[in-house]
Amino acid sequence: MNTTTSLHETEFHLKSTFWLSVTAGTLVFPFAFYHLIYQHRGIGIGAVITSVSLYLVAWLCYRKTYKTIYTFVWLTPFTTFFVAYLMNKIGISGTYWCYCTVLLYYFMMSERQAWMSNILFILVNLPIVWQLLETTEAVRFTVTFLLVCAYSAIFLHVISRQYSELTHQAITDKLTGLHNRMLLQDSLTQAIHQTNRTDTSFTLIIMDIDHFKTINDELGHDTGDQVLMQLCTFLKSFFRESDKVFRIGGEEFLILAYNTDEADCVNMAETLRAKIENLSLIPDRKVTVSIGVAGLGSAKDWKQWMKACDQNLYEAKNNGRNRVVADSGTRFAQNDFVPSRR
Ligand code: GH3
Ligand code: MG
Ligand code: MG
Repeated sequence: MNTTTSLHETEFHLKSTFWLSVTAGTLVFPFAFYHLIYQHRGIGIGAVITSVSLYLVAWLCYRKTYKTIYTFVWLTPFTTFFVAYLMNKIGISGTYWCYCTVLLYYFMMSERQAWMSNILFILVNLPIVWQLLETTEAVRFTVTFLLVCAYSAIFLHVISRQYSELTHQAITDKLTGLHNRMLLQDSLTQAIHQTNRTDTSFTLIIMDIDHFKTINDELGHDTGDQVLMQLCTFLKSFFRESDKVFRIGGEEFLILAYNTDEADCVNMAETLRAKIENLSLIPDRKVTVSIGVAGLGSAKDWKQWMKACDQNLYEAKNNGRNRVVADSGTRFAQNDFVPSRR
């Protein structure tokens, strides 16, 4: 049940990488120009390549096709060896570029890629710095440089953790820990695409607790909450990891069953209904559920699919509750046959 995206696949990251690349690319350009015309042609060419690569990254971000791996496989080795070349050519003043190059890694790549790039950079360039500087200066450089690396790594780690925690909170129902409605549209649309592409069957189950308001009214809201939590624990154990379970309303749940056709799903829903009836969630009182089941059928989008399933749930309620209703021709309704009228 894991559908979260990482920080580096977000619109936010694309925007920040875009502006970072444009700024860095623009700032490097005057140096490229200066060296090409007045100083070292080799450095000039290297700086032009760096600048153009950064603009290319900005362009990919603009087109929303940027992947951090591009930077990892191209900019990391290129900039690492270019800074080494730069220090060999112009000496001590070249060491300043170490700081901004490493910072760029942490802003433009995933945590692991940035770490690996940073290690390569240290292994290649720190020995050169020690050859260039006096021992005391080299120690100063090493300490300050390693601090910048460590701060950047910690900073990226903290914001990545915060991002995944916030994403998790945004898609999770607080009371039950199930998915809330947030990912519903994406999950159903993805299932429809997969069905069309690979012929995998997905079936929807919508389940609603019967007379839940009465439980709340007679036994209190806290007991109602307890029932919801226990029921969710049961749902998590009943369904497979590949099935997605959502709490889509107060006492309403939707299950997207993976690789299960409608007939199998009706059997599964009937087992579910019967098990819940016998769960004794509240002493001396039965808690029952009504269930609608719908295969994709002729539904063209997620809304039509949900509507079909909702209609079956509605029929289950109208026909006396504590039953399963599926599309015409499928069975089960508290041991009766109740096909839907659609
Ligand atoms: P039906 O059999 O037709 O589904 O009747 P019902 O009473 O279950 O349905 P109704 O829609 O009338 O009432 C749903 C109730 O669920 C009303 C609302 O107070 C309660 N509810 C919604 N969310 C929560 C929650 O998080 N905790 C508790 N305890 N109750 C909730
Ligand atoms: Mg209800
Ligand atoms: Mg309801």
